[in-house]
Amino acid sequence: MQGKLVIFSAPSGAGKTTIVHHLLNKFPDKIQFSISATTRQLRGAEVHGKDYYFISKEEFLHRIAQKEFVEFEEVYSGTFYGTLRSEIERIWQTGKHVIFDIDVEGGLHLKRKYGDDALAIFVQPPSLDVLIERLRGRGTDSELKLQERIAKASKELGYADKFDVILKNYELDEACANAEKLVLDFISQ
Ligand code: ADP
Ligand code: 5GP
Repeated sequence: MQGKLVIFSAPSGAGKTTIVHHLLNKFPDKIQFSISATTRQLRGAEVHGKDYYFISKEEFLHRIAQKEFVEFEEVYSGTFYGTLRSEIERIWQTGKHVIFDIDVEGGLHLKRKYGDDALAIFVQPPSLDVLIERLRGRGTDSELKLQERIAKASKELGYADKFDVILKNYELDEACANAEKLVLDFISQ
């Protein structure tokens, strides 16, 4: 089948990974996570082929040349992330819809490409200060990486209006309940 695409985008630290994990646990027979390819180093408990396909820069550039990506970005300087066409097709073949956790530019790129088959959701934190607190609280990035993420985040917060829906992530339970409804409504259309 040609399924749908549910895209969660936001600046790093807004809570999209947390919300996407919640949805995957809630609707395991309806949606599946699009595993992106990246050149960044594996972090903490991440697993190759589950969280990301961790590949070398050489392999990433080769796959760009082979036109294997539906979108890719150099999200942070020297670090590439991208969605493989084969990943979307693999998931559709299982009869499920695809759910994405992807940066703002990448999310808008997919929306432009897939139109009404895609729902682009912007996850909005209460403020930049709260986002910074969450990023620090997550404790996964060095101070240098953190500063890079914060600089990018303050710019990306201004992109919210370009999305189909803005999902406020203030209280996590409420955000997850609203996300469930958005996804169910969209995939049952
Ligand atoms: P992203 O995927 O957008 O970078 P994460 O899902 O990793 O963000 O969330 C960043 C941090 O904020 C995590 O430590 C997560 O547990 C926490 N977090 C997410 N949503 C909320 C919320 N509504 N209230 C408080 N903390 C949250
Ligand atoms: P992280 O390093 O925190 O896992 O991800 C950094 C950023 O890259 C996040 O905003 C994440 O959503 C984004 N990202 C992950 N996969 C992709 C992808 O395939 N394409 C794009 N454009 N961004 C991605």
